Amino acid sequence: MKRRKFEKHPKPLGRRPLRAALKVLSGAAATRHGADATAQKTELESALEMAVEEARTADKRLREAIDILPQGIVFLDSEGRYVLWNEEYAKVYHRSADLFKVGVRLADTLRVGVMRGDYPAAKGREEEWIAERLEKMTSPSERHEQWLSDGRCILIQERRTGDGGIIGLRVDITELKEREASFRLLFEANPVPMYVVAQNGKTILSANAAARDHYGYRGAELIGRPVHCLHHQDDHGRLEELYSPAPGILADHIWNHLKRDGTAIEVAIFSQAIVHERAPAVLVAAVDITERRRAEAQVAYLAHHDPLTGLANRARHLEHAEEMLAAMSRGGRGGASLCVGLDNFKSVNETMGPAAGDALLQAVARRITGTLRDGCMAARLGGDEFGIIMPDVVEPDEVSTVARRLIEVISAPFTIQGQQATIGASIGIAIAPGDGDEAGKLLKNANLALSQVKLRGKGSFRYFEAEMNARAQERRRLERDLRNAIESQSLEVHYQPLVALDSGHIVAAEALVRWPHAERGYVSPTEFIPIAEEAGLIWALGNLVLNRACRDAAAWPAHMRVAVNLSPLQFRCGSVHEMVADALEASALPPERLELEITESLFLDRSNIVLDTLAELRRLGTRIAMDDFGTGYSSLGYLCSFPFDKIKIDRSFIRGIEGNVEQQAVVRAIVGLGETLGKTITAEGIETSEELACLRAIGCEQGQGFLFSKARTQADLLPFIAKRKPKRAA
Ligand code: C2E
Ligand code: CA
Ligand code: CA
Repeated sequence: MKRRKFEKHPKPLGRRPLRAALKVLSGAAATRHGADATAQKTELESALEMAVEEARTADKRLREAIDILPQGIVFLDSEGRYVLWNEEYAKVYHRSADLFKVGVRLADTLRVGVMRGDYPAAKGREEEWIAERLEKMTSPSERHEQWLSDGRCILIQERRTGDGGIIGLRVDITELKEREASFRLLFEANPVPMYVVAQNGKTILSANAAARDHYGYRGAELIGRPVHCLHHQDDHGRLEELYSPAPGILADHIWNHLKRDGTAIEVAIFSQAIVHERAPAVLVAAVDITERRRAEAQVAYLAHHDPLTGLANRARHLEHAEEMLAAMSRGGRGGASLCVGLDNFKSVNETMGPAAGDALLQAVARRITGTLRDGCMAARLGGDEFGIIMPDVVEPDEVSTVARRLIEVISAPFTIQGQQATIGASIGIAIAPGDGDEAGKLLKNANLALSQVKLRGKGSFRYFEAEMNARAQERRRLERDLRNAIESQSLEVHYQPLVALDSGHIVAAEALVRWPHAERGYVSPTEFIPIAEEAGLIWALGNLVLNRACRDAAAWPAHMRVAVNLSPLQFRCGSVHEMVADALEASALPPERLELEITESLFLDRSNIVLDTLAELRRLGTRIAMDDFGTGYSSLGYLCSFPFDKIKIDRSFIRGIEGNVEQQAVVRAIVGLGETLGKTITAEGIETSEELACLRAIGCEQGQGFLFSKARTQADLLPFIAKRKPKRAA
């Protein structure tokens, strides 16, 4: 920027008074002494000349000296008139510099400046402002700041000189002011809570708005308080460490802070030594990490726990197993890995809803943990499967005892949402290190043992055996083959006749699925039905059997019914009602000739879906039979929950009945019940004529068994019926 021209320096100080004095002196000497005086005069004159010269030099030096000062400097006489000022002073007030002249009163230049609008603070109160300004000048003590219209800020310091004049300093502090303002902004408006603490005394000197908000203080409440008030009691002893950092060092730590209301928070503190109002202080920024910490803890917790039950999860379970194995390799005792599967959980979940299912899992978790001794660790492995690590097993029996106890406590009825629910438990056990010297293997083997339990007789426990591996592989192969057999429709349906015991007439035949396996011959349905159920093949299998049976039965004499077995799982897969209706329609078999056999396990669901489906099936016109009666849970209860058309007494009550009065009593009771309730009673598995004779004596209506016939192919059945029809049973 081009500076305005202004008058260069005023005339040197004191030059004119000196000359005048010289003149007077020389004149006086001349009148008094003549020629002699002339010599004297020259002497005096030269002395004076020298003095003048010296004064001139001094003046020049002074001028040079003040000109190199970085501050503006001005000398006023006792009347407030300009005497001397330096280049910097003229620069500071360059808008008024044209007015500066020796002998001009500063008050006048000030007034002109005010009129020109050089002093924004004077606007609207010009006279008052000038008066105040002059007042400050005549009683100078404090420094003060003066803002100029071009945005500069001038620091003014004035002092009286010995002769009653004034010496004034001017420093352009605009940059400093700007820096200070931006620092203030950075501090005050910073979203991060910040405060300044005096190193000596540890009081809070300043706190920004974010800090006040954060800690719950208003206005200046924090100022002057000991910084202890922000810290948890436990940390009071080590505050020195935080608030006396080496200068310039930025330190960061995690601290426990307190809000005004006593809430504890965790903060990451960044502190730096600074100088605040000329005293050592610490600038502190506190970032609240309470939430972050909580989230981190939550993440860590979730990584190791099952959120529903609060038990360890699968990952943590494997860690528990690793820990047990590690302890063993250091010479500790052996241990066990238990895999607990809930029996019938899925149906409870479906019947009562997922919320009840969740509540049930939580209740199971509580019972499991309540059963375990110290040192055992329970986990939820997923779904309805739990895992237990039992380290330090002293007695081998100990594991069996725990398994037995677990089954017992889990099998006791639960009350969920005011309703009773009963489930069971199956347990597979692997012993370390024999059954696995690595956590994953141990769990896998316990799991294998569990699947064996589930396959044959739920509600019990089994230890892993090396053959289980082979068996598991075998099972996978079987499953694959069964899938192929269903897809290629190579399953067969055979029919076992049901005979009216009084006449010996064949009144019906039960469809029994047969699987001719290329390598194994006929595989028993008791072996592959559970596989079909577990592999999700039961729907396709059941549909195949039903359709084949209806079609085949349509070719039988019109009085003969066909009985088809339904797995409880079919009721969960889809609409049994639709499947049956479709099969009847496709085969044109009258519905009353179809009898559907279900077992009591279907009623473990206690669900309306089952009862509704059964009612629908009956409305279709089909008959419903209860199969394997007597083997289940509380058979009589189920008899009341649905109006069955037929009850099939399980073979276990028939075998050797002629020599067992208890069996006879049971069968007699069931037959009586059938008569009263109008239900057909069928005895299953009649193998001997003695059994038949006994059943006839009791008055049992129908029978089925090897004595009459094994299951036959359709081609075999038709001539058998024809041959048998006119004859009476033996
Ligand atoms: P179940 O429904 O109780 O069928 C009767 C079983 O007893 C048949 O065995 C039959 O061959 C057998 N049996 C009949 N009379 C005698 C006898 O006098 N003595 C002896 N010891 N056994 C006799 P199978 O065919 O092996 O079927 C076994 C089970 O497999 C059936 O028991 C049934 O629960 C199931 N099953 C068979 N076919 C099907 C099917 O198509 N669907 C479904 N869901 N299950 C089926
Ligand atoms: Ca049956
Ligand atoms: Ca049966």
